[in-house]
Amino acid sequence: MSTAIYRFARDLRLDDHAGLSAAAAHGDIVPVLIVDRDLEARLCSSPRRAAFFCCAVSALDGALRERGSALIVRHGAVAEVLQQLIRDAQAGAVAWSASYDGAGMQSDTQVQDVMEESGTRAIVVHDSPAIPPEESTAARSSGGDGYRAFAPYYETWRELAPGSYEAPLLLSFARTQLQSEKLPQPKDFGSPEAEAGAGPAPAREKLDAFLRGAGLQYAFALNVPADDRTSHLSADLTFGTIAARTIVRETHARLDDPFLLSEERASLRLFLRSIAMRDFFLQLGWYNPRSADETLQEKMRDFPFADSHPQLDAWREGRTGYPVIDAGIRQLRATGWMHPRVRAIAASFLCFDLGVDWRLGMAEWERQLVEDDPAIAIGNWQWIAGVGADLAAYPRIYNPRKQARRFDPNGVYARKWIAELAHVPGGGFDSLRLGSPQIELPLHAAQSYPRPVVDHERAAREFLKRYQEFVKPVAGHQANR
Ligand SMILES: Cc1cc2nc3c(=O)[nH]c(=O)nc-3n(C[C@H](O)[C@H](O)[C@H](O)COP(=O)(O)OP(=O)(O)OC[C@H]3O[C@@H](n4cnc5c(N)ncnc54)[C@H](O)[C@@H]3O)c2cc1C
Repeated sequence: MSTAIYRFARDLRLDDHAGLSAAAAHGDIVPVLIVDRDLEARLCSSPRRAAFFCCAVSALDGALRERGSALIVRHGAVAEVLQQLIRDAQAGAVAWSASYDGAGMQSDTQVQDVMEESGTRAIVVHDSPAIPPEESTAARSSGGDGYRAFAPYYETWRELAPGSYEAPLLLSFARTQLQSEKLPQPKDFGSPEAEAGAGPAPAREKLDAFLRGAGLQYAFALNVPADDRTSHLSADLTFGTIAARTIVRETHARLDDPFLLSEERASLRLFLRSIAMRDFFLQLGWYNPRSADETLQEKMRDFPFADSHPQLDAWREGRTGYPVIDAGIRQLRATGWMHPRVRAIAASFLCFDLGVDWRLGMAEWERQLVEDDPAIAIGNWQWIAGVGADLAAYPRIYNPRKQARRFDPNGVYARKWIAELAHVPGGGFDSLRLGSPQIELPLHAAQSYPRPVVDHERAAREFLKRYQEFVKPVAGHQANR
């Protein structure tokens, strides 16, 4: 029997695995992990990410050992390492799962070219999305190169069923004498953390618990930052400790429960919509490989977002004086995760109130988040900055005070993450800064909480003026798809 190398990257599991299935068709599998400079840099930039990744890799190795195999770890440039391994394992094929951001896709193509020039079959498989980009595009009546708007994408997505792949027990792994370097450890990437609980088993437990409980109130959790009970599956999806396909199938299975209340059913459907959103941004990256540098909306390509602002550090550190934003940023810095609703408010503040380039915000959060999906980050940041797939006529500028009144009316979220406000009752933190006589000592700490670093209303209007002046000459030239 011939052998096929499978290179793991963002797909650290054996179950429901499109890449492993593709490799298995070409022989017994040699499982490989290559730590190249790009991966190393992304892991070094976020200690929690490094810890999560190392824990997931260790779980993968454990699962392989149970199958009589083991992960072969190597450091170095991907193409060179693969060539050496192909020679040593006498492999006829090599497979891995596709990237969806420009840099990742370029690297995939280069490695694929090198493999094929040297006579090895190289197979790049769609594993990360529940529905691969070509499938949603093929199902589209007007053809073309992917979707730029979410609504029609979602209409199509809902009609498609994710594929399913062999159970790990049916996969056959090669017995080789190949030596492995040691498994990556968090300290290799400068991380002091020893994250426990990353891997397919905890991811599956998280999903099951979510579908049994919090998922039934997802519509609520999505809008209540203090509730904090969205799925928290983003890092698992990033590193593929669970497949998006599995999530979709299990959610559909849950929807079959005849005893669900209609609002519970609506919540589960909303959760599926979030997974569709993920697929949408992955396909957006797939068909728009230049999106890291080039905004999707042509009319906005040269919009003069600033590359600095005197209050940029205040935003980075959660000291803007707007509690809902500062709570979100402090939650991110403390945990590596921020509630989805607050992400939108905090990102809007950076792009519009401070007028700062979305790429700076994205880079900052990439250093803080555990999850690491460049295509998804780019898609979301462009959307919020009004330069991407959101086709609203005007930028959607979030008012942080109104948002706080709506989504954190009692200040529970703000108090949880902002130590200075921990003992301030109610949600009307504004009265503090007005020197309200109702706010009495011992609220010294609250007095050290900053005043708003910019006046939101004024900043928003100034941005809209700049926006109007910029788009006026090119209005009407944008072909929205
Ligand atoms: C400015 C900004 C930046 C963001 N950056 C990232 C990022 O770098 N990586 C990332 O995975 N998500 C990003 N998101 C999307 C979303 O906020 C996170 O996926 C979500 O907060 C993760 O928490 P959760 O797993 O509990 O999500 P849930 O609400 O439970 O959703 C389940 C899953 O659906 C997917 N999902 C949900 N919303 C989105 C969305 N808007 N876009 C794409 N996928 C989505 C995620 O994989 C998520 O894990 C960003 C959103 C904004 C507004």
